[in-house]
Formats: sequence, C-alpha cells, structure tokens
Amino acid sequence: MNSFVTDVVSAIVSVCDTKSVSLHEPSLGELEKQNLLECIDTNFVSSIGSFVSEFENKISDFTGARFVIAVNSGTAALHAALIGAGVNKNEEVLLPAFTFVATANAVSYIGAVPHFVDIEDKSLGIDPEKLRLWLSENTKVDLDGCWNINTGRKIAALLPVHIYGNPCRVTDLEKLAKSFKLILVEDAAESLGSYYGQKHTGTFGVVGTLSFNGNKILTTGGGGAVLTDNEAIARKVRHITTTAKIPHAWEFEHDMIGFNYRMPNINAAIGCAQMERVREILCLKERLHINYKNAFSKFKKVRVLKPSRNCQSNFWLQTIILHPELAHLRNEIIKKTNEMGIQTRPAWKLITKFEPYAQHPRHDLRTSTDLQSRVINLPSSPALIDCNLSD
Ligand SMILES: *Cc1c(COP(=O)(O)O)cnc(C)c1O
Repeated sequence: MNSFVTDVVSAIVSVCDTKSVSLHEPSLGELEKQNLLECIDTNFVSSIGSFVSEFENKISDFTGARFVIAVNSGTAALHAALIGAGVNKNEEVLLPAFTFVATANAVSYIGAVPHFVDIEDKSLGIDPEKLRLWLSENTKVDLDGCWNINTGRKIAALLPVHIYGNPCRVTDLEKLAKSFKLILVEDAAESLGSYYGQKHTGTFGVVGTLSFNGNKILTTGGGGAVLTDNEAIARKVRHITTTAKIPHAWEFEHDMIGFNYRMPNINAAIGCAQMERVREILCLKERLHINYKNAFSKFKKVRVLKPSRNCQSNFWLQTIILHPELAHLRNEIIKKTNEMGIQTRPAWKLITKFEPYAQHPRHDLRTSTDLQSRVINLPSSPALIDCNLSD
C-alpha cells in the first residue's frame, strides 16, 4: 500500500480506535425514552401534542429566530420555505452543485429552476466574488428584480448551504443578494449550532431551514424546521405545511393546496430531549475535531476543514481535504478504512452529474469539481469521544 495512504489511515484510526464506527450516529438517552413514553401514555403520538410547540420554542430560543415551524423533514422545510419566500414557477434559484441533492429537489418541487454556482476552497460554501462577477456580466436588474440575460428568466433567490456544518460567507452573500434583488434563503440543514459572527446560521436569510434527520447533529428521527423573523412568511409556512386548513373546531375548510408536512408529536418529543443536551453534543463534536486536527497536524498534504476566524462550526461531519497531487489516492483511503469497519466517504457527487439535473444552467464549476475529488468525510459521532453523557 502507498505509504501516504497508510499514514492517513493510521491517523484516522488513532482518533476512532479500531472498533467498528459509522459516519454519524445519533446520541440518545433516558430523557428521549421518557418523553416517548409520555406520548404513548397520553395517546398524543401524532400531529397534535404539546411537544411540537415546546420544540419550536426551544429552537427559537437557541437560534434566535423569531418564528420556528417544525415539519417532518429538512426537505419539506426547504420546500415550504421557498413557497413562503415567494419563489415562483419558472424562476431561477442560485445554489451550489456541491450539496446534498435535496437542496435542488426542493427548488424543483415548486417548478423553479435550480441554477448551479461554484464554491470556494476555504469554506466549501458559495464563492461570493465569483458569483458577483457572473451576476454583473449576465444579469439585468430592474424594478421587478434580477433577469438572467442568457435565459430570459427571472433569478428570484440565492440559496446557500453551510456544508458539513461549516458556515459559508453568508454576510457577503447577503450583501450580494441585496445588490441584485435576490431573496436569500439559507439551507442550514447541517448547521444547527454553527454561527457566523454571533449570529446563528439559518437566520441571515429571509427564511432558513434545519434538518433533524437521523444522521444530522441532533435528530427527531426525521424532521426539519423553518426559521424566519418575518411574521407573514411564518404564517404562510405554517398554513401550507398543515394542509392549508382554516382553524375551526369541527369544519374542514382549506383555502389552497397545502401539504401534510406537520412534525408528529413523537418526533418532537425526541427533539425536546435532544435540545436539553445540544451544548454537550456540540462540545463533544469540537473535541473530536481537535483530535483529528492533532492527528493530522504533521501532514503537509492533508487539510482538516475548519471554520474561518469569525465563525463557529458545529463540526457536523469531520472533513479532510487532500492536496491536489494526492487526489488519486482518495478512493484507496476510503476503501481501506471501510474494509476496517471505519465508515468514511467521499463528498456527494456534484448535483449536475445526476440525470435530472444534467441540463440545468450552471456556472464554471471548476472549484466544486476539484474539491469533490479530494474531500473525505470521517467518522463524526459524538460518542467517539469517551464521556458520560449526563443521563
Ligand atoms: C439533510 C439535508 C437536507 C434534507 O434534510 P432531510 O431531513 O433529510 O429531508 C437538505 N439539505 C442539506 C444540505 C442536507 O444535508
């Protein structure tokens, strides 16, 4: 085996041990059990129950978002957020190609057109300078908004993602959105507990979203949330995610085509318990990051992804980035570690590689393409840090 591969594998093993480890496992305890039992004992297991609003309040307190609407997945949250933000059919939405496919799918659900932009090397988020240059050369801004002069379509929104929990340069993107009349919608599915400056990710946009899927930093089994400070958007999102039913004690009246995206009480029950130790989990994630940083400190050709100076990451997925000269060894490292029971994996393929998105508008994606070939995600469960979780 190539000696660089051996060294990288040893560094990973030094942090994870050799016991079989998966990429990201939830950390669940007694309070989760207790809350679930309460749901069963009281018969409130479904779409009505007090854990849902309790969970929404906890997320609101934690993130600083004025309004929080809990839903049944992060994808549903994005779908509802885009509707809430007023993005329409046939309008374009700018988003990275280097993200999970759900980001683009949510745009497609409303009949809007995902338009893929490049990322920067440092944060793995959208490159604001490169995008500004493209926008100034390819769009026309008038009273009605921003127009793509190549396609004739309106560009309605900018949808950045905080990849692996690492904050993107969201304040620069916010400025960009303002100068080009784009609505800023943030996909913060991966970044609960990540901050840009003092402000929580997902609260910069007009609307933002979180995911509580089983592999995310906190889980509700499956779930998501929409964050906004805008009361009208909050009301609209609440309405369309609850079948657009007009509240009434017994009458069924629906004033538009809504969705059944409500988060069930049993999921929120798990979420409430998880929120009790979010700080603790974030702490463990940071310690794990430090362990990886130390394990790779001697490597000149491996970079451990870390947040910029003014940012705080939740370190959701621990990530190493190989030097371009060693990109060809990525698969060997991934194969070797997986054979040992240590789950590592490459970055997602770029969304533009998938058949449904093969013809969609895109910019020059050279940085995305390059990074995709060099990124490796490492085992990231909080349980990899030996500790007694308090319960
Ligand atoms: C997980 C994720 C989603 C979707 O969340 P689900 O809860 O799985 O539907 C959306 N965007 C990104 C970037 C994600 O990582």
